[in-house]
Amino acid sequence: MDKRTIGEAQKQALVARAREARQWAYAPYSRYAVGAALLSASGKIYDGVNIENAAYPVTICAERTAIFKAVSEGERDFEAMAVVTANGGAPCGMCRQALSEFGQDTLVIIAGPEGDIHREVTVAELLPGAFGPEHMK
Ligand SMILES: [Zn+2]
Repeated sequence: MDKRTIGEAQKQALVARAREARQWAYAPYSRYAVGAALLSASGKIYDGVNIENAAYPVTICAERTAIFKAVSEGERDFEAMAVVTANGGAPCGMCRQALSEFGQDTLVIIAGPEGDIHREVTVAELLPGAFGPEHMK
């Protein structure tokens, strides 16, 4: 599996988009605002934020918001995702699984509030041994 590589300018643009989106996070309970931006192979960027709910389990993460927006518009192939939080927090397990459905080599860029990149990892590195589409055949 080849690790996807995107240019430095593209990387910065993706992080900038996630930072920009983060302002729209709806996080009145956790106060942990997250912004995500997903670059598809088609070149389009889909952003997302965490959207909490008074009934806690209804909450959705920024990463899955971005993935679901993209997939619902016909995208299936992703190059990279940027995730911006206050402290460089990494995607949760559920979001790792959601990303994993669409490719092990998608690059995940984990950044802080000023766009400072903390880590760059692949989905395979975030979720080794994932249960995937191949197990459903
Ligand atoms: Zn998540």
